[in-house]
Amino acid sequence: MSSNLCPSCQSELSWKNDGYYCDSCQHAVKKRAFCPDCNDEMEKLQACGSASYFCNSCNELKSKSRVKIRFEKA
Ligand SMILES: [Zn+2]
Ligand SMILES: [Zn+2]
Repeated sequence: MSSNLCPSCQSELSWKNDGYYCDSCQHAVKKRAFCPDCNDEMEKLQACGSASYFCNSCNELKSKSRVKIRFEKA
């Protein structure tokens, strides 16, 4: 997963002030992760440089490769 695209204009997002930002639309973009099993939004856990995702509904960690990532205008 290398492309982080703006939900409005589909251009590549840049990283600014600890968040994603679209230079063409000039707005911040929020990255949200959803559970592949129950579709609830998941919590991102940062552990030792690698990110993992925890679903509060399933009450378990989900593999990063299965997580559904969505970008939304913040
Ligand atoms: Zn944009
Ligand atoms: Zn879940």
